[in-house]
Amino acid sequence: MPEYSEGMIAVDVALENVLAGVTKLGSEDISVGEAQGRILAADVASRLTQPPVDVSAMDGYAVRAEDVASVPVTLTQIGESAAGSGFAGEIKAGQTARIFTGAPVPDGADAIVIQEDTDSDGDQITMKEAAPIGKYIRPAGLDFKAGNVLVTAGSKLNSRNIALIAGMNVPWIKVIRQPRVAILSTGDELVLPGDPIGPDQIISSNSIGLAAFVKSNGGVPINLGIAKDDPESLRAVLSSLTGADMLVTIGGASVGDYDLVKSVLGEEGLDITFSRVAMRPGKPLIFGKINGIPMLGLPGNPVSAGVTAALFLRPAINKMLGTSATSHVTETAVLGRDLDENDKRQDYLRSTLTIGDDGALTATPFDRQDSSMLARFAEAECLVVRAPFAPAISKGERIEIIKLDA
Ligand code: AMP
Ligand code: MG
Repeated sequence: MPEYSEGMIAVDVALENVLAGVTKLGSEDISVGEAQGRILAADVASRLTQPPVDVSAMDGYAVRAEDVASVPVTLTQIGESAAGSGFAGEIKAGQTARIFTGAPVPDGADAIVIQEDTDSDGDQITMKEAAPIGKYIRPAGLDFKAGNVLVTAGSKLNSRNIALIAGMNVPWIKVIRQPRVAILSTGDELVLPGDPIGPDQIISSNSIGLAAFVKSNGGVPINLGIAKDDPESLRAVLSSLTGADMLVTIGGASVGDYDLVKSVLGEEGLDITFSRVAMRPGKPLIFGKINGIPMLGLPGNPVSAGVTAALFLRPAINKMLGTSATSHVTETAVLGRDLDENDKRQDYLRSTLTIGDDGALTATPFDRQDSSMLARFAEAECLVVRAPFAPAISKGERIEIIKLDA
């Protein structure tokens, strides 16, 4: 572990601090149909048995297996069982009932002969194939039974387990509340896309991108807008913080004259845990609490903001959601170009990721790694991670990567 000057801390220490500063949120009840991507807060048990009774798996005829033991044999049709309206009578020796997929198997019947294996002439049905007991019958409870716990607390709900919960006749479920993440941009140079723009101005791309990032990670972005680089403007915007679970500021975090986040928020009660991380991009990263609300101060450069969001905001959101995915998920890949020895900061190199014919992943860092280059960042598929003071490494060697996916 290298020694850091200037109050810098290592990435893993910074992450530990961020995670220690956020807590799991409470739960709320929502309709199962609204639950895509939500985290289940309590186990869900089935309220019914599925299928509720023995049903047919095919269109055909419900028979007594013993009646069709030797074929061909002609049986008399005495009724019909359709999905949603079963046949109330009983199948006795020599009898059959027409049956459809999902329809209840009538009393007395214990097998299905499929439509294709029959000939009909009025109510006289000739069975051309035998069917052993249970053939094409789905017994009651084949899928699940009343009381079975089929989706457990902590699951991230997808369309399949949403269908299952609905099928269990559970209309309302408890999920973890979505973290409300307030996003505040700072800078006189920033305007929103489509707004009038002066010659010295740029678009506040980070706030738009971060809102999308928060959403795709299961949070709800709250747009606090753009504060000017003056204390009054920053203070005014902060008054809208009520109800947020976390504040994310963008920019104003380094040592420039206009970098007000630390000073102004400090006066407003910001308690800073750290303000510099030994990483590139992302050195001027702040974490602290303002009036009890965790605050992450991201650097303004678009790539720095995006990388630090992936490395710190996502784990913080996951911790609030109570999921276990709070560490950085690294994989290995083959390096696609030579790299020089690294310095004291942990590097996250924006890179492409290709899959060779052999299925091996190759990560190739872009030659220019400027933290303002949003186009390159958008093109990147992963970050190549380089530890502080990592020695030079050649193309073809294995390297650690973090995939960029949100
Ligand atoms: P700062 O940390 O405020 O010094 O900002 C560093 C760089 O990031 C400057 O070039 C800013 O113009 C740019 N920047 C700051 N905020 C944003 C934002 N919301 N969107 C895009 N670029 C930004
Ligand atoms: Mg600024």
